[in-house]
Amino acid sequence: MSEGGFPYRPRGGQERLVDLVSAVCDARNHLVVESATGTGKTVCALTGVLRSRRQKGSKLLYLTRTNSQQRQVMFELRRIDNGKHFGVALQGRRNMCPLAQSDEGLEGGNPEELSKVCSERKARVLKGEEEACPYFANTMAADLGLVTRYLRSELPTAEEFSAYCRDLRVCPYEISKMHVPAADVVAAPYIMFFDGFIRHNLLDWMGSTLNEIVVVVDEAHNLPSYARELKSSRLSEMTLRLSETEIDEFGNPEIAEGICLRDFVALLRNILDRAVEEYLIDEDGVIPQSFLEEELMFATGATSHRLKGMLSQVINYGEMVRDARRGAGRLPRSFIHRVASFLVFWHALEEGTYVKLVVKSDVMALEAYCLDSSLACAPLRECRSSIHMSGTLKPLEDYRISIGLPSETLMEEIPSPFPPENCLVLYADDVTTKYEDIERDPTIVNRISEHITELLEGCRRNTIIFYPSYATMKRISGLVDDSLDDRRVFREDRSIGQSQLMEVVTGFKNSSGTAVMHAVAGGRVSEGIDFPGEEMEVAIIAGIPYPKPTARHRALQYFCDIRFGDGWTHAVKAPTTRKLLQSIGRLIRSETDRGLAVVLDRRAVHFQDSVSATRSIELVDDAREFFS
Ligand code: SF4
Repeated sequence: MSEGGFPYRPRGGQERLVDLVSAVCDARNHLVVESATGTGKTVCALTGVLRSRRQKGSKLLYLTRTNSQQRQVMFELRRIDNGKHFGVALQGRRNMCPLAQSDEGLEGGNPEELSKVCSERKARVLKGEEEACPYFANTMAADLGLVTRYLRSELPTAEEFSAYCRDLRVCPYEISKMHVPAADVVAAPYIMFFDGFIRHNLLDWMGSTLNEIVVVVDEAHNLPSYARELKSSRLSEMTLRLSETEIDEFGNPEIAEGICLRDFVALLRNILDRAVEEYLIDEDGVIPQSFLEEELMFATGATSHRLKGMLSQVINYGEMVRDARRGAGRLPRSFIHRVASFLVFWHALEEGTYVKLVVKSDVMALEAYCLDSSLACAPLRECRSSIHMSGTLKPLEDYRISIGLPSETLMEEIPSPFPPENCLVLYADDVTTKYEDIERDPTIVNRISEHITELLEGCRRNTIIFYPSYATMKRISGLVDDSLDDRRVFREDRSIGQSQLMEVVTGFKNSSGTAVMHAVAGGRVSEGIDFPGEEMEVAIIAGIPYPKPTARHRALQYFCDIRFGDGWTHAVKAPTTRKLLQSIGRLIRSETDRGLAVVLDRRAVHFQDSVSATRSIELVDDAREFFS
C-alpha cells in the first residue's frame, strides 16, 4: 500500500481495493467492484476515498441500506488515521426527531410529512412559541461547543448521538445537519440520495454540488430493485377506504356538476374491482394503458379535459385536509391527496418505462411499476465518482448497464482471501423445484424433503434451508419438521418486525450445532445477517430461487430485452445468481470459517460460471467427508 491511513495489517486483496478506489477517485471515474463479504470493504472504501481526497478535496457520501451497515462506517472512520477525519451519520427524522418519537400524533409520519411538521414547528419557535418544539428551542439557546467537541472526538453513530442529545433535550437531527458542511464523510441511508427532494436538501447542507462529491454505494446488489421500487407508486384499496373516512371527517364537496367526492372515490373502488375481475391472474396482471382514464370518463361522462379539472379540485381538497390536520397538531396527511396525486402520476406515465398493473398482496391495488432502474440512479452519473461494492455483484456489466453508469466505468473482482477449500458447494440432479416438473411428478417434493432430512440427520451442524419462495417453504418445511425429533427449529416469517426476527436469529445462533432454520433466498436472513463460525455451517438451497413469472416480472424481462437485448440475463439470471451467492455467502465470514452448501436442484448446472458446484449422488457421505 502506497501510503498510511489504513488502520489494520492489510489482508489479501485489501491493498488492491484501497488502491483501486483511490485511483478511480483521482481519475473522476466510477467503480463497480465485487469483493467477498468479510473482506473489509467498508474500511477499504473509506481509506481509498480519503486518501484521494487529501489531494483533490471532495466530500464522501457513504450510502448504506441498513442502520447496522451505517454503524460500521462510523466504527471504521474512528480507526482510520486515528479518527482525524470528521464524519457525520445521518438518518431520517423518523429515527432522529425526538419530537416525532415522543408525540403520538406524529407517529408513523413519512419523511415528507415529518419535514413539513418540522419546518412549521421551527417557524413557530422562531416567532417565540417555544413549546412548538422544545428540542429546537433548546438547540437554539444552547452553547453547542461541547456538543461539537463530542461529535468531533467520538464520531458517534446516529443512535449514539441521538441518545447523547436526548439527555441534553436538544435536537440531534438539527445539530447533525449543522455539522454536515464541515464533514469529510457523511454516512446516510440510500433514500437521502436517491429521493430527489431529500438529495436536494442534503447537497444544500453539504454545501456541495453533485460533481464535487464521491458516492459509495454499499451492498450495491440491492440498488437496481431499490431504484425501481422508489420510482413506482401504488393506489390501494386501503387508501380508498381511508379516503372515505377522511370525507366523513372533512366533508363531501361537489367536484363537478352532479358528482361529489364520495361518488368519485366509490367509482375508483368499482374500477379497481373491475380491474381485479378482468386482469388479475394469481398475484398480478397488466392492465391496458388507458383503462383507468376510459373507465373514469365513461362513468362520469367527463371529457379528458374535464377530468383534469376534477382532479385539481380533489388535490385542493387534499391540501385543505393537510392544512387542517397540521393546524390541529397532527401529521399533515391526506389520503384524498394521495389518491389524486396517484391519478395525476398515472396519467403522465411514459409507456415503455412503466407497466400498469393490478396487484393482490395483503390488499388489492393499482400499481405503476417502474421498469428502469437508471431513472432513480441518474444523479450518480453526475457525481465526481461513485464506488459500487458488494460481495455478490456479478455479472458486473449487467449491474453497470442496469443503473446507467457510463461505459468507461471500471469493473473489478477482488478474489476472496479465504481458502477456497473451506467452502464446498454440492448439487443434486435428481430433484428440482421447477413448476412444470413438480406438476408432472409431485413426488419430487417428497424427494427434496428426504434429501433435507437425511442431511440434517447425517450432518448435525447448525443448518439453514433457503427456499425459493415462502410458498415453497410452507410446502416443504412441514414435511421436514415432521421427520425431525431433537433439532430446534426456527423459521423466517415475513410478517414480523426486525427486532422479532433478530430474536429468532439469536435463538438459532445460540443453539450451536443443533438448530435448523427455514428461510427464503433473497429474504432478510439471506441478505443481511452474519453467521460466523459454528453459528451456521450448512446451507441447503432447496430449489433455484428464480423470480416468480408474474406479470410484473414478464414486463421487466421484456423491457430488458428491448433496452439491453437480453432480458433473460438481466431480469432472470443475474438476480437469481445474486440470491444464490448471498445464501451461500452466509457460510464463510472469516479465514477460519468452513461451510457446506447443497443445492437441491438440477438447474444448478446453469450457474456454473458463477457458482462452482460439484454434482453429488451421495450427499450425506460427501458432506461427512468434507467436515472430517
Ligand atoms: Fe423534530 Fe428537531 Fe424538527 Fe423539532 S427541530 S421537529 S425535534 S427534527
